[in-house]
Amino acid sequence: MNAHGRLATCLALADPAGKSLPEAACEAAREAMALAEAQGDAAAAARAGAWLCEQLLRLGRHADVLAAAPPVLQALARAPLAHDLAPERHQLMRVYTMAACETAHFDRALDTAHELVRLVGLLGDATASLKAGFALGVCFERMGDSWQASRVLGDALRLHGPGAPQAQQVVMRNALCAISIGLFHRLHGAAPADEVQDVLVRALEAGQLALQGLSDPPEPMLEVAICGNLGEVLMYQGRVAEAQALLKRSEAAAVAGGFRAYIWRLRTTQAVFDLLQGRPEASLARMQALIAEMGSEAPQQTAIRAHHAAYCACRALGQFESALQHFETVERLERERATQQLRAQSELFVTRTEAQHAHWQAAQARQDAQTQRARAAEFAASAERDPLTGLGNRRHFDRRCAELLPVLRRDGEPVALVLIDVDHFKAVNDAHGHDIGDAALVGLATLLRENTRSRDVLARYGGEEFVIVLPGMALAQAREVCERLRERVAAHTGFCAAVPELRLTLSLGLACSPSPGSPPEASLSSPDSLQALLKAADKALYQAKREGRNRLRVAPVAPAAQPA
Ligand code: GH3
Ligand code: MG
Ligand code: MG
Repeated sequence: MNAHGRLATCLALADPAGKSLPEAACEAAREAMALAEAQGDAAAAARAGAWLCEQLLRLGRHADVLAAAPPVLQALARAPLAHDLAPERHQLMRVYTMAACETAHFDRALDTAHELVRLVGLLGDATASLKAGFALGVCFERMGDSWQASRVLGDALRLHGPGAPQAQQVVMRNALCAISIGLFHRLHGAAPADEVQDVLVRALEAGQLALQGLSDPPEPMLEVAICGNLGEVLMYQGRVAEAQALLKRSEAAAVAGGFRAYIWRLRTTQAVFDLLQGRPEASLARMQALIAEMGSEAPQQTAIRAHHAAYCACRALGQFESALQHFETVERLERERATQQLRAQSELFVTRTEAQHAHWQAAQARQDAQTQRARAAEFAASAERDPLTGLGNRRHFDRRCAELLPVLRRDGEPVALVLIDVDHFKAVNDAHGHDIGDAALVGLATLLRENTRSRDVLARYGGEEFVIVLPGMALAQAREVCERLRERVAAHTGFCAAVPELRLTLSLGLACSPSPGSPPEASLSSPDSLQALLKAADKALYQAKREGRNRLRVAPVAPAAQPA
């Protein structure tokens, strides 16, 4: 296999949407990065880097994510990658935010999440906005501010939920469930029992909605997270059998997917479960093994949970010295978390007012983007409009015909095209001045507009020349329309209020697409058919002029079939 083929293979293996286990995927991503760099393929290198980080996150190797992500993020922010790989960049920012949260680098997490909210705010894309809201919500949750976290997530769901796909809504419901669980832990023993129960009920509702929305087959990470969270809620509610079934399902999916960080977290839930079931020895053994296994790689929150479970187990077993040690560890980790939170919030994002402000800025940015899109559309429209008469110009005519003719061709509908030229218009200018000439053209354009259907394509084709395409009209009917138009203009007296005596006449050249039954080469099938119609109509117009003006001349049918 050549180097390009090998790169493609490695990328496929590294893809987080693929089936590789995270360890193998990391290997493949590293190889893909090296190959892409050697081949000078910056986009592939950046994509492989982003995927490496996502796989590292799955493994719970948060410190490695923090080390690997920054250069990739820088590469992804540079043109032209920033444009082509925007989704990869947003996803990596999310991954980085999570890893920074798990390692209590809340300053970096908040910074990145805010930047993400700002970036996707510019896009006005519901899915991207939900993901950004999710990242910001996770920051607050991990910092211990469950209230702010649920507000951020709730706002994001209200604002963007209705426009987002089901899968994203499921992610958000699961996040709301997780946040409510966090709130439950915070309030437990510190708030009235009914308030604590309310929080559990909210967690249950969100978790059940998430589980119902899970696709079939489920996205593995999501299945692990939803079943794990919902299992935990049911456990606290004493619904033991249901809880156990969900926790088992979560664990099986986590093991199958190789999601090490989730497996660790689930083991802490199992330890709480053992405690609630009156098995403190099992709980303690489980946590001692886990704490040893995680070592310095332990995500902060999982470490807190593990030591807290171990503390409870030791206390239940009367091992007070060990209990005190675990308790002190919990205390120290909580203090570290609180300090990091305070520092992050005071440095970057001091108050709720600022949260509100950031929120408002994102809304404003979205608004600006919308205005810009509207302006661009307006600009595009004005580029197709004749400023004097307000009719479409030649560009408009070309574009509309390019859209219209294939449809008519497909549906076997006829079409007529008429070229119109004002007679002796130079004389109008000469007699009354250019301004009056202008006013007369505006008056004539109004008359033409009033005498055509909305389906017709009417355009100012040149100085005092106009063109009309009449879709669905065969020769006889088109001839009638043209004659009526010619007579109306000739009889019209109100072209210009300043010169009430001003009259205009028109010469018209009409060409029609061939009637059904004509030879196939005469049909509208050729891309040149518009040119053929124009040419034929122009010839007919010239004939009308030659034969005395103020008249209609019709080109012979089947212009495309005419010998050149
Ligand atoms: P014919 O019957 O042969 O068409 O005679 P004509 O005078 O209309 O033809 P010609 O092509 O010689 O002149 C066209 C005139 O239309 C010349 C030009 O000054 C005038 N014209 C073209 N565009 C405008 C415009 O936007 N405003 C004004 N006021 N006059 C225009
Ligand atoms: Mg002319
Ligand atoms: Mg003219």
